[in-house]
Amino acid sequence: MKLIETRLGGRPDRAGAAFRKWFPGTEETIEADAVIIAFGFLPSPPDWFVQQQIALHANGRVRVSAAPQQRFQTTNPKVFRRGDMVRGSDLVVTAVFEGREAAQGILRYLGLRASPAH
Ligand SMILES: Cc1cc2nc3c(=O)[nH]c(=O)nc-3n(C[C@H](O)[C@H](O)[C@H](O)COP(=O)(O)OP(=O)(O)OC[C@H]3O[C@@H](n4cnc5c(N)ncnc54)[C@H](O)[C@@H]3O)c2cc1C
Repeated sequence: MKLIETRLGGRPDRAGAAFRKWFPGTEETIEADAVIIAFGFLPSPPDWFVQQQIALHANGRVRVSAAPQQRFQTTNPKVFRRGDMVRGSDLVVTAVFEGREAAQGILRYLGLRASPAH
């Protein structure tokens, strides 16, 4: 596995993300029998989204409604979604908050009284 040291720098891209600069001379090679890539920042929607009529944006993120009464409802009305799969990579606190908001949307969809957000 070849490694190189990076630092944030340069002008941010259109999404606002800063570029990582490579630092020549910091390369290192580590011998390994197998390498498991265990992190990622891009959506990987499963095949069953298509079967369930859950539409995606071109970048692979899930489309959700912005209408106040159907917030976070996908194009399959029985499926609500929020978090990184909708917003893109963010923070745990954002995912928790939006999970609660999506739950409020589910309660409204079911005709149950939505409790106030905490
Ligand atoms: C490397 C890395 C480091 C990070 N560090 C931080 C940090 O320091 N602080 C911070 O606040 N945030 C951090 N984040 C971001 C944070 O982890 C995410 O924003 C947050 O976890 C998003 O929550 P989520 O519920 O949207 O998605 P996830 O946490 O990704 O949850 C989705 C879940 O769905 C499961 N799943 C997927 N497909 C299926 C399926 N077909 N059936 C059943 N289950 C399925 C997955 O296994 C997963 O458990 C980091 C993210 C990465 C990738």
